[in-house]
Amino acid sequence: MKKILALLLALLMVTCLLTACGGDDTATDTNTEGGDANQKPVLKMATNAYFQPYEYYDANNNIIGIDAEIAAAIADKLGMTLQIEDMQFNSILNAVKSDAVDFGMAGLTITEDRKLEVDFTNTYATGKQVIIVVEGGTVASPDDLAGKKIGVQLGTTGDAYATGDYGLNEDETPNGNVIQYNNGNEAVLALIGGAVQAVIIDNEPAKALVAANAGKGLKILETEYVYEEYAICVKKGNTELLQKLNTAIDELTKDGTIEGIINKYIPAN
Ligand code: GLN
Repeated sequence: MKKILALLLALLMVTCLLTACGGDDTATDTNTEGGDANQKPVLKMATNAYFQPYEYYDANNNIIGIDAEIAAAIADKLGMTLQIEDMQFNSILNAVKSDAVDFGMAGLTITEDRKLEVDFTNTYATGKQVIIVVEGGTVASPDDLAGKKIGVQLGTTGDAYATGDYGLNEDETPNGNVIQYNNGNEAVLALIGGAVQAVIIDNEPAKALVAANAGKGLKILETEYVYEEYAICVKKGNTELLQKLNTAIDELTKDGTIEGIINKYIPAN
C-alpha cells in the first residue's frame, strides 16, 4: 500500500514537472502579461484636431495642444491612458451621447443649447469669438457685417452667433450670408479667395490662422465679438465621470498645471 502511494506521489511529481505545474503556469502567465497587468484603462476623448493651439497635429502626426495636454494630465490623475479620437467638430456631441467616447474636449464652449444635450465640467479656459478680415477690405468693424458673406466653422458658437445676428431673413429663413466650412482653415482660405468678407472664429485659432497665412493681408478686428468659457463635456447623467473630471481639473488648476500648459501654447504678449 505504502509502495503504491509512493509511486502515485512520484508520478504526480513527474507530471507536475512535465506540465510545469498549475502554480508555476499561472506565475508564468502573469509574467508574460506583465505589461497587460500594468496596462491602464483607456479614457477616450473626442476632438477636432484642426484648432490650434487647443488641438492640432505636430510634424510627427501626434495630436498636441492645450486640450490634449490637459486631458493627458487628467487621465494621468485618474490612472488611465488617454486615447484621442479626431472627428468633425459637429460629430463630437453625438460621439459623447452615444458612448463612442468618454468625453469631448475641443475648445468647446459651454452654451445653454449644448447643456440640453450633454453635461459640462467646470471651465478650464476662456475664449472669445473674433472677426478675421482682409486688411483694407469692406469689413472694418462688426457694424459692417450685415449683408456681407461671413465664413464660420460648421456647428461652432461662431456659426450660431453669426447665423443669429447676420444669417437670417426676417421670417427666420437663412439669407445665405453665413457660409459654413468644415474647419477654420477652409473658412480662411475662402476669405483669402474672396468668397467671404469675414470669418468669425475663436481668438487663439484666429491668431494661428492669421500667422499661418502671413503675407496674405489678414487681420483680426480689435473688437471681440463674444466672450466664452471652455469646458469638457460628458454624457448627460454621467455624474461619476463628471465628478472625477472636476476633481482633476480642480487639482490641476490649484497646482498651476493648467496655467502652465496654457502659457506654454499661448505665450503672454
Ligand atoms: N469654441 C467654439 C465652440 O465651442 C469653437 C470650437 C471649435 O471649433 N473647436 O463652438
